[in-house]
Amino acid sequence: MLLVVSPGYASEVKSRVEAMGIEAWHVRVWGMDIVVTPPGDGPKGDLPGVAAAYDVRSQYQLVSREFRRGDTSVRIGDVEVGGGNIAVVAGPCSVESEEQILETARRVRAAGAHALRGGAFKPRTSPYGFQGLGEEGLKLLARAREETGLPIVTEVMDTADVPLVVKYADAVQVGARNAQNFPLLKRLGSAGRPVVLKRGFGNTVEEWLLAAEYVVLHGNGDVILVERGIRTFDRTLRFTLDVGAIAYAKAATHLPVMGDPSHPAGDRRYVVPLALASLAAGADGLLVEVHPDPDRALSDAKQQLTFEQFVELMGQVSELARALRRKLAERHG
Ligand code: PEP
Ligand code: MN
Repeated sequence: MLLVVSPGYASEVKSRVEAMGIEAWHVRVWGMDIVVTPPGDGPKGDLPGVAAAYDVRSQYQLVSREFRRGDTSVRIGDVEVGGGNIAVVAGPCSVESEEQILETARRVRAAGAHALRGGAFKPRTSPYGFQGLGEEGLKLLARAREETGLPIVTEVMDTADVPLVVKYADAVQVGARNAQNFPLLKRLGSAGRPVVLKRGFGNTVEEWLLAAEYVVLHGNGDVILVERGIRTFDRTLRFTLDVGAIAYAKAATHLPVMGDPSHPAGDRRYVVPLALASLAAGADGLLVEVHPDPDRALSDAKQQLTFEQFVELMGQVSELARALRRKLAERHG
């Protein structure tokens, strides 16, 4: 149950609930003080200081639309994600060199991207694969932001690296392989940066939304959900983009939802259709891989778009936005 409390009452309400033998958390998100109790369990009668109580039916409570009817939007730097906008985060799978990331930042910005992505800490299936440049990669991202004004999104894999990554990043990505790393999700509750949360490729939609609930329950309401494809019986494409999950997440939660067409495609020929499908299903934006020379990329070489393909994608996104009566997010920098 969620108890929205009037200013100054949070600790009193929490203590009263705990005195009834019910576990309780106090969280301050979206400008509200909320005392949270486990789903289906909460105080019976009225309590002083409780302005509103929500007995949410799903296991995820804070992120549910039953609790908040309107859309929550999240700012990455000065870009608003959600709230009817379409935002595009673009860049290489991995940061590889200064030249590579600066050129990509300039070119995706010129084509209309809103933020720059690039991994410095890479979760690679093989221990022999390129593991990322680490802090050097973060510094290169910061240089690209300085030059282009694009805010940066980059992955954090390890709880111990959170302070380092937030020093450079405007938003931190949790990758599919860490989608249920609960210590990491809890730690990001107090990271002070928006969290771009991928769905694990073996996770149900409910598991994905509960991962978001972890971050919010631990104090951070700025979560963007990302559908990036799941593993199904069909391995024709790298993963199966679950467009239905995008529509469902938009209906069941108030958080912004993005589509990542690159990882399910696994091949640059299929990225544009999956990107358009994500937006048509209701996604608030895209997270897409772009590289100056994709065939020579150190990770995910087959699926990264060339600059020319990214320009083409942005043209199609603009046309689709018009048809959907939506607009591209504004860029300030
Ligand atoms: C990535 O964004 O490059 C990445 C590793 O994605 P995922 O965690 O979705 O596989
Ligand atoms: Mn990748």
